[in-house]
Amino acid sequence: MPPKPLCLVSSCLLGLCTRYDGKGKQNDECLRLLSAYRFIPICPEQLGGLCTPRPPASILGGDGHAVLDGRARVLDNYGRDLSASFIKGATMVLAIARMQDVRVALLKSGSPSCGSTPTIGVTAALLQREGIEVRSF
Ligand code: SF4
Repeated sequence: MPPKPLCLVSSCLLGLCTRYDGKGKQNDECLRLLSAYRFIPICPEQLGGLCTPRPPASILGGDGHAVLDGRARVLDNYGRDLSASFIKGATMVLAIARMQDVRVALLKSGSPSCGSTPTIGVTAALLQREGIEVRSF
């Protein structure tokens, strides 16, 4: 029997405490879907060097694509520019995807990194540019 396909999954969707508030966000629908995959948990904000807990952040002036193109910025609620950390984290996630030839990512909605709804985040945007399917939970 061929091995199950490999996917990336936002670590907080598994219940790991990687969110800005030091909590996880376990998603049972995502966990059910994961039974069809082998998976690699990722947290782009931690891979970008940010710690947990951390101040909440949001994209100012656009979406994740605009951040990647230098037309918008990620700011935390103290006004600190975290764009470089977010782009670094996205780049690290993409490197992992390429290393393992991953074609699907199950990512947390509403995040300036992982979100693809309602606004696309920095990591989701970079993965989509590379043709990786992003599913939102
Ligand atoms: Fe979850 Fe992504 Fe935020 Fe990390 S960056 S806590 S994986 S939503």
